[in-house]
Amino acid sequence: MSLPQVVLPGRRGIPPRVNTFTARFWSALEDGALLGTRCNACAHLTFPPRRICIACGAQDPEWIELSGAGTLYSATVIHAGPSLYWAGGPYTVGIIDLAEGPRLVTRVLGALPPPIGSPMQMVVTHHDDGCLFAATLAAAADN
Ligand SMILES: [Zn+2]
Repeated sequence: MSLPQVVLPGRRGIPPRVNTFTARFWSALEDGALLGTRCNACAHLTFPPRRICIACGAQDPEWIELSGAGTLYSATVIHAGPSLYWAGGPYTVGIIDLAEGPRLVTRVLGALPPPIGSPMQMVVTHHDDGCLFAATLAAAADN
C-alpha cells in the first residue's frame, strides 16, 4: 500500500534523527509506507515505532505497515510558531486516531482545519532534504 505523495518546497524544520532502529521506518516512508511496530509478546501496536514495548517492556517488536487511514481527534491552527516551521505558516497541527489504534500528532495539510471527526489520510511529504509525514482530509487525498 502506498500513501499519497505531496511535494512541499523547502527543507524540513527539524530533520529526523535516524538510527539503526528507525532507519527502516524512514526508508519505508520514502517508499510510501507508514510503519508502526507490534509487540510479539503482547500484540500492543505502537506509532511511532518502538524497540521496547510501552505496554509490557518486551524488546521483540515486529514491523507493521499501517493503512494511513484515520480520524481527526483534535486540531489547532498555529498562528505564532517557531521559525523552523514557519515557512508554511500559519499551519494546522492535528491529533489523528489511526484506524489501527495508535494516536499521533502531526501537521494537517490544507488551508483550514477539518471538522473534528473527519476521515483523514496520512500522506508522505517530500521536502528538499528528505521526507516526513502529514495528514490531510481523506477526500482531499483522493484527488
Ligand atoms: Zn508488549
